[in-house]
Amino acid sequence: MRSQKRRIAVVPLGEVPGIVPKSIAAHILGYLNVNAEVLSPLRHPDYAYDPRRLQYNAGAVLKALESHSFGRYEKVIGVLDVDLFVPIFTYVFGEAKQGGKYALVSLNRLRKGHGEGAFVPEPIYLERAAKVALHELGHLYDLHHCSDSRCLMHFSGGLEYLDRIPLYFCRYCSVFMRDALSRPRHRRSKG
Ligand SMILES: [Zn+2]
Ligand SMILES: [Zn+2]
Repeated sequence: MRSQKRRIAVVPLGEVPGIVPKSIAAHILGYLNVNAEVLSPLRHPDYAYDPRRLQYNAGAVLKALESHSFGRYEKVIGVLDVDLFVPIFTYVFGEAKQGGKYALVSLNRLRKGHGEGAFVPEPIYLERAAKVALHELGHLYDLHHCSDSRCLMHFSGGLEYLDRIPLYFCRYCSVFMRDALSRPRHRRSKG
């Protein structure tokens, strides 16, 4: 029996187009049947800016996010419009700690179309953001990268890969995800 309802928070970090967090929350409900709520924005992550890379350090943003308790939420997805990096990659669309509570989705590169200065229509932009969010959420529920290129957990190293993966998990990953979501929530021991 489920004693506590699962809840996922979607929280903008700085200014992001309002439709994006709403769409991410709707996708979480629609694909995973888990309630997701959009919270009021937290401050813009200027503290994570790296002047040498002209990008924002994903680890530093995650750390700041972790300093908020978000007690009633099981998982927290921060959505931001700045370009993120982790030391080993040029850039990342998202970042999450495997099996953790907090993840990030960067919208910065998701508007780009094919060709110089081109942009994709809004539905594709929203779909890309939903893919990144559900993929990172998969990591939070301890799913690893999947070798099946027709799976949302397949690693996407660029937009062409992101556009190629579908907006759903393969059979194996779906079972894993369903399993993770059917386990009772951990009792909170602190905060
Ligand atoms: Zn991943
Ligand atoms: Zn898979």
